[in-house]
Amino acid sequence: MSDSEKVYGNFIDNEWKDSNKGATENVINPANGKVIAKIQKSSEEDVREAIDTARRAFDKGEWPRMMPAARAEYIMKLARILEERMKAFGEAEMSNTGKPTKQVFDYDVAYTIDNFKFFAGAARVSEGIATGEYIPDGTSMLRREPVGVVAAITPWNYPLMMVGWRAIPAIAAGNTVIVKPASYTPITTLMLADAVKEAGIPPGVFNVVTGPGRTVGEELAKNEKVDMIAFTGSNEVGKRISNLASGSVKRLSLELGGKAPFIVFEDADIDAATEGAVVGSLINNGQDCSAATRLYVHESIYEKFKKLLIEKVKKVRVGDPSDPETDLGPMISRDQLSKVKEYVELGRKEGNIILDGSDFKAGNDGFFIRPVLVETENNKARVVQEEIFGPVPVLVKFRTYDEVIDKANDVVYGLGSSVWTRDVRKAMMAARDLRFGTVWVNDHAPIPSEMPWSPMKKSGFGASTSKYSLEEFTTLKHVYVDLTGSVRKSWYYQIYGKKN
Ligand code: NAD
Repeated sequence: MSDSEKVYGNFIDNEWKDSNKGATENVINPANGKVIAKIQKSSEEDVREAIDTARRAFDKGEWPRMMPAARAEYIMKLARILEERMKAFGEAEMSNTGKPTKQVFDYDVAYTIDNFKFFAGAARVSEGIATGEYIPDGTSMLRREPVGVVAAITPWNYPLMMVGWRAIPAIAAGNTVIVKPASYTPITTLMLADAVKEAGIPPGVFNVVTGPGRTVGEELAKNEKVDMIAFTGSNEVGKRISNLASGSVKRLSLELGGKAPFIVFEDADIDAATEGAVVGSLINNGQDCSAATRLYVHESIYEKFKKLLIEKVKKVRVGDPSDPETDLGPMISRDQLSKVKEYVELGRKEGNIILDGSDFKAGNDGFFIRPVLVETENNKARVVQEEIFGPVPVLVKFRTYDEVIDKANDVVYGLGSSVWTRDVRKAMMAARDLRFGTVWVNDHAPIPSEMPWSPMKKSGFGASTSKYSLEEFTTLKHVYVDLTGSVRKSWYYQIYGKKN
């Protein structure tokens, strides 16, 4: 059987199952437009089966009741399987997303393994206030418990990594999950399901259901038996999920879009800043919520920065993702490519195109584009305000500190940001004044597993990565134990009877 004939089922209760409607959809390699596999186009009934399974595994199963050390061991085993199969996972991620080989192996898969290992360890460290007497009659203690059944709805830009951010901390904390991957990029999530079974994780703990967001995602958002939605994706879908989830009072963790500012002050190392701008803006081909999409450069160095940036971006190699020399692969889909090209045309009207790679053809049916650099003076331009999600950074000149902070903050998003300066005081002021969940100084993009990726403003709420992510997936329970042993505690008179 060739890969293109491979049909993946849904993974429910550690078994592979076809959709009850028998419908499937194609998965495409964006580098050549060819079908690489088929997945289930699931119905609401399929989703309900997965939810009931996860519910049972949570309410009656061993997983939430297991010692943290035992859960940690299973997750560590999963990380080791991923490590052993790095080649297969990397190649699958590459052919499904079009990410170049050096990115999938050295970043996406390697970082995901690190995330898994981190959450395995962190699951054993539960923090809270100390047990003690806070009123004289009794002892209070705090239990941190899993939330319940969690639906992890993930995007197409970092398919495997987003399972590492949304589903793995959830199970590490003792929840059971249903993962709904994006239909463009479900392959590595489905491959991980096999590894889950091999690692010995009990049935019902980790389930995967594929299919359209409108059907699968919406059933997860609405269903009364789901306790929490961990969603990473667009603002539009995040709002829709919030509305649907409100009917059943679910806990939400929303990681949404971004439009990161990249601020280059007059005293910055221009060589380092331009190098950082190339990688920061073109990371994952610009299909990245933290990508440096708005390059604010001080007027005194603007022309020099621009010239050097153009020179460096021209050297970026776009093409076959499997070639180890390739820097950037294709866009994820034909639709995404069209959307990015529409923004390039908008950039032509709202400013100047200073480097135009929009008519690049790779000589096959892949969804390729070369980077495009736009400059504008108008901070309200749509290319400055909206998420383009492609290799199209926009340069904007600034004059003063206050002006650039205002401009940087003047977007609805609040995810990543960076400042480039040799002045510690200025860096610290900017770290204080920027309304973004992450501020990098003299770099752009690193997110260690130990630190929170935590959005502000309309980029959502909740933390992915770090121990704070485990807090998202747990709930607090106060247990109070009377110490007096008396029939009438000291406060009862407030409700009836006399004070002792
Ligand atoms: P998307 O919102 O289109 O889809 C995300 C997921 O939601 C997919 O699995 C999709 O099938 C599902 N979905 C679609 N419609 C749905 C509905 N009506 N109900 C329930 N689920 C539905 O996002 P995308 O295009 O896959 O990903 C790109 C977006 O993700 C960008 O906006 C990017 O900034 C964001 N993102 C954010 C982060 C972060 O950490 N904040 C990380 C990666 C991506």
